[in-house]
Amino acid sequence: MNGPNVLFAARPDRWDETRGPLEAALAEAGVAADLATDHAPDTVDYIVYAPNGPLQDFSPFTRCKAVLNLWAGVEDVVDNPTLTMPLARMVDPGLTEGMVEYVTAHVLRHHLNIDADITRKPGDWTPVTPPLARDRKVTVLGLGALGSACARALAGLNFDVAGWSRSPKTLPGITCFHGDEGLADALARAEICVALLPLTPATEDLLDADRLARLPEGAVVINPGRGALIVEDALLAALDEGRVSHATMDVFRTEPLPQKHPFWHHPSVTVTPHIASVSRPESCAKVIAENIRRGEAGEPFLHLVDRQAGY
Ligand code: NDP
Repeated sequence: MNGPNVLFAARPDRWDETRGPLEAALAEAGVAADLATDHAPDTVDYIVYAPNGPLQDFSPFTRCKAVLNLWAGVEDVVDNPTLTMPLARMVDPGLTEGMVEYVTAHVLRHHLNIDADITRKPGDWTPVTPPLARDRKVTVLGLGALGSACARALAGLNFDVAGWSRSPKTLPGITCFHGDEGLADALARAEICVALLPLTPATEDLLDADRLARLPEGAVVINPGRGALIVEDALLAALDEGRVSHATMDVFRTEPLPQKHPFWHHPSVTVTPHIASVSRPESCAKVIAENIRRGEAGEPFLHLVDRQAGY
C-alpha cells in the first residue's frame, strides 16, 4: 500500500470503538491509509494519540508528520520534549454538543433552583415564581471551541452571558472580556461562573482566594475545564462561608477523585466523574481523517496547538 501509515496509540478500548469509524472516515476522505496499532516507529506518518495510552517517547518516530490528539485537552503531552512534530488537538462537533448539554443543564439547575423541587417535602406548597434567564448573569471563562458554543447556547436561552478569553473577541449577544485586565469584570458579574479553560501555566490556580472573592455573593461555580484551574482549599473556604453557594465539579487535580476528598462530602458540591463530554468516535474520526488528508495534500493542519501558549 502506498498511502500513509497511521499508528493508533491509545488504550485498547479506544481502538475498539474508533477503528471502524476511522477506517470509514479515511476512505471517505479519499486517503488510502494503513491504520494499525503496531507499525514500526520509523515507518509511521501520523500518530492518533491519547495521553493515557502506552506512547510517551516520540523520538523513534523519525518521519511522523503530525500527532493528532483524540482529546481537546493537551496538557499531558504539550510539554513532552520528544514531541518535535506538529500537535493537533481535537475539536469535535460531538464533543462540543455534549459539553453544551452538560453546561446548559447545570446552569439551568442552579438558575431555577431545581434542587428545591427535587427535595420538596410532601405538603410544602410554597409557590416561588421562577426567575427568567434574562435576569441571570452567567460568565464563561474560555471562549474557545467549547466555551463559545456554551456561551452561544446560554445566550440563546436569554441568559445575560459574558465570556473571557486571552485575545479580544466579538461574539453576537455575548459581552466579551479578555486578558488580565478583563478578568475582574468578567468575575464581578458572574452569578454563575463556568470554567472552560485549558490547563496551562497561565491558567493553573486561576480561581484562587482573591479571584473567588471577586464573584458576587452566593455565586455558583461550574468547572468542566480542568481541576487545577481552581485552588481547592480556597473554593472550600468560600463554600463554607456561603460566598460561593454551590460548586459543580466535573474535573479534579487527582482523578478518580479520592474517596476521602472533601468535595465528595461537602453539601454544596456536586461531583460528576469527568463525564461532561467526550470525543465521539464517529465525529472525531472525521476530524482526524480530514487532518491526514490535509497532511497528504500539503495543506495546513486544522486545530494545531500553540506549543508556547500550551493549548
Ligand atoms: P480551546 O483551545 O478551543 O479554547 C480555549 C479558550 O481558553 C480560548 O478562548 C482561549 O483564549 C482561552 N484561554 C486560554 N488561556 C487563557 C488565558 N491565559 N487567559 C484567558 N483565556 C485563556 O479549548 P476548548 O474550548 O476546545 O477546550 C477547553 C478545555 O475544556 C480543554 O482544554 C479541556 O481542558 C476541557 N475539556 C473538558 C472535558 C470534560 O469532559 N470535562 C471534555 C473536553 C474538554 P483565546 O480564544 O484568546 O485563545
